[in-house]
Amino acid sequence: MELSDVRAYYRQVIGPIQRIIRAVDGVSLKVFEGEIVGIVGESGCGKSTLANVIMMNIRPPLFFAGGSVKLYAQDGVLELQKLGRDFLKERVWGREIAVIPQAALNALMPTLRIRRIILDVVKSHDPNADEDEVIGLALKRFKELGLPEMAINMYPFELSGGMRQRAVIAIATLLNPRLLIADEPTSALDVVTQKMVLKTFLDVYKKNIIKSIIFITHDIATVRQLATRIVVMYAGKIVEDGPIEDVIGKPLHPYTDGLMGSVLTPEEEVRKRGLKYIPGQPPDLSNPPLGCRFHPRCPYAMDVCRREEPPMIEVEKGRFVACWLYAKK
Ligand code: SF4
Repeated sequence: MELSDVRAYYRQVIGPIQRIIRAVDGVSLKVFEGEIVGIVGESGCGKSTLANVIMMNIRPPLFFAGGSVKLYAQDGVLELQKLGRDFLKERVWGREIAVIPQAALNALMPTLRIRRIILDVVKSHDPNADEDEVIGLALKRFKELGLPEMAINMYPFELSGGMRQRAVIAIATLLNPRLLIADEPTSALDVVTQKMVLKTFLDVYKKNIIKSIIFITHDIATVRQLATRIVVMYAGKIVEDGPIEDVIGKPLHPYTDGLMGSVLTPEEEVRKRGLKYIPGQPPDLSNPPLGCRFHPRCPYAMDVCRREEPPMIEVEKGRFVACWLYAKK
């Protein structure tokens, strides 16, 4: 995937007043085959909106305000922002990119057997799909993810929590999408179930069922267990991007440093830096501050930070940061 200067805003109308909320505002991001990318940041930083933008699942009040979303698909390059919803549904969603939205791991329709849910999902992409073939594919996927065959004839409430979550992941990956986006998939789960779900994500990756994962979370510990690369978002923008161990071990951006320092972690290297908190609140995205959006909270803010937006700089191979502290003087 390649996102270039993507902007996606919410239109909020309250009586005569209209507000534009710049949830994703000038995001450029490449995701390569084989990567597990964790996108982290506080609630409201735009990471879930970004998941919808990557899918081009844009519905009011969200609108696409500019940029390009390129997918290097199996049969050529698709510029997703130029395609209609029907095309995306038929050719892209589920086949090239699949998403597991927030809280979906516990959200299977309780009144339908798993078999019916699978057929409904596949037929929403391809109304002429052969049912026996689909069920055959599903059983193969169930086996790969350690689910018993009989689960396919059960209702969701008859499955254990762990089996239900594996069933959701099996259904999402049924058509062999190359990219899987998981949006806060473990946030409502207890620690033991979280571990099992993360293991299932690793299984679908290691078994080559999917090629790449984008994992969106506010939980650094979760992303640490899964991701190879971490992208940090603040106030609708990417502020840091790099290999997971480097960013956690030696964050460059003052916001990343605060974010990493605000979580309890068993890692000695991180603990030595001490527990931190980030003063203040994220900005109102209908009226973000000029320059660096983090400047009202940043202990290192300089004049230039209040005037000009910092460019994204590659400080070493594969390590990017958007901060004037690293710009060449
Ligand atoms: S650009 Fe300036 S205000 Fe923004 S994080 Fe860097 S030093 Fe702080």
